[in-house]
Formats: sequence, C-alpha cells, structure tokens
Amino acid sequence: MSFLKTKGIIIKEVNIGEADKIVTIFTKSNGKISASARGARRPRSKLVAGTQFLCYSDFVLFKGREMYSINSCEVIEPFYEIRNDIVRLTYSAHIVDIINDIVQENQPASRTLQLFLNTLHMLTKTNRNPELVTRIFELRLLSILGYAPFVKGCISCGKTDTANLMFSFKKCGFICDEAGCREKDNSAVRILPGTAKAMYHIVHSRMEELFSFDVSQEVLGELGTIMRRYLRERLERDYTKLDFLKSLNNA
Ligand SMILES: [Zn+2]
Repeated sequence: MSFLKTKGIIIKEVNIGEADKIVTIFTKSNGKISASARGARRPRSKLVAGTQFLCYSDFVLFKGREMYSINSCEVIEPFYEIRNDIVRLTYSAHIVDIINDIVQENQPASRTLQLFLNTLHMLTKTNRNPELVTRIFELRLLSILGYAPFVKGCISCGKTDTANLMFSFKKCGFICDEAGCREKDNSAVRILPGTAKAMYHIVHSRMEELFSFDVSQEVLGELGTIMRRYLRERLERDYTKLDFLKSLNNA
C-alpha cells in the first residue's frame, strides 16, 4: 500500500453518508487532491479537527485505487477565526473559489499555496482591511500564474512617472497620457498615482513585504474595479461571492 505524507489545507468538504466526508486538499506536494475521511463527522474521530474547511494540517494519506483516504492528520493552523466573522468568511470563500479553479490535480503549486496561506493569515491574525488583502491576493496570484500586467511605467513609451497613467486591459499594462500612447487604447481607464504604485508593489515586491502597505478608499475602489475585470478576462469567470457584502452594507 503506498502512502503520501504532505502538508495541506482543506478547500472543500462534502458530507457522505452518516459520518463520512470527502474533502479536497490543496497539498504542498501534489497540488489539489480528493480524499475520503471515514468517520470524520463522528465527534470522537481523530479526523474531526483536521478535516474542517480551511484547516491546514500535516496529513498521512493512503492511496487507494480510486481516491486517497486520510489515515491521520495533525493540525498546524486551523484559521478558526474566519468562521466567526461573516465579512472575513465571505472574502475567504471568494479566495477559495479562485483557488479551486486554478489549482490543478496532482500538480504542485507551492508559490500559490504560500500566497494562499499568507492571505488567510492576514485575514485572520491581523486587522488589515480584508478588501485590500483580497485585492493583493488576486493581483499577486495572477502574476504567479503568468498574467502579470506591465506596471513599471507606460507600456508604449516607457515613461515611469505615475501621474496621468491609465490602465489598458487591451495592452495589459499602464499607458500614459501622451497622444501617441493614449491612442493605442481608447478604452483604457484613468487611474490615480496611488493605484499605479499599489499595483507595482503587488506585482514586484518580495513576499515578506507584499501586504505591508496601505491605500486610500479611492485607490481601493479603483483596485476593485480593475481586478474584477482583470480576473474575469484572464480566468474567464465572473466571481460574484463578494456581491453579498454589498447587500449587507445596503441593509
Ligand atoms: Zn507613454
């Protein structure tokens, strides 16, 4: 019987029968895998804690003919704070939606896993604005996937002045206000200098410094508009879970 020992985080759980579960684990060694967790819903099962949504654990998995099954798991970080806060839970659900779409089965994605864990840490252990944390996650993730926009300056003339820049979805990067550059994409959207700086930081900073900056409410709004469309165009899906938060704000 072959087995797999790996760290991983639960990104989906489906109840089966009376006491079992099938979970999707984003593992360090093998990307996304499905595993059955027999008896995991029995209160005294040793699998109860480690098979909860978003729990990060050390797993020992047996490889069956069709699917892995969890032999044991030891919790490293449960991220349990997420479940106590509807806003943070909604942002996490949005992030997990994207992760579920882009992580492939049996393909390691260690940089994506690191970004995902750091993002959950920011959402649960700090007071950082969850909206900004989520925007950082989205743009950095697309950069890891090879969709980094050109944010060092104008993609056409190379000018690095952050005043009077626009973001071009067509050209996938900044273009400046000079007539020769501007006319390359008439649908480019004007952005604030703070938005340009934030995007540069998110794409190019070291992982340890990724979340260490703040932005104004206006910049946060622009980042939101840009990232929603950029995600939709690159991943070919409209992620709508966060719309729920607008209904909360309007209530
Ligand atoms: Zn230019």
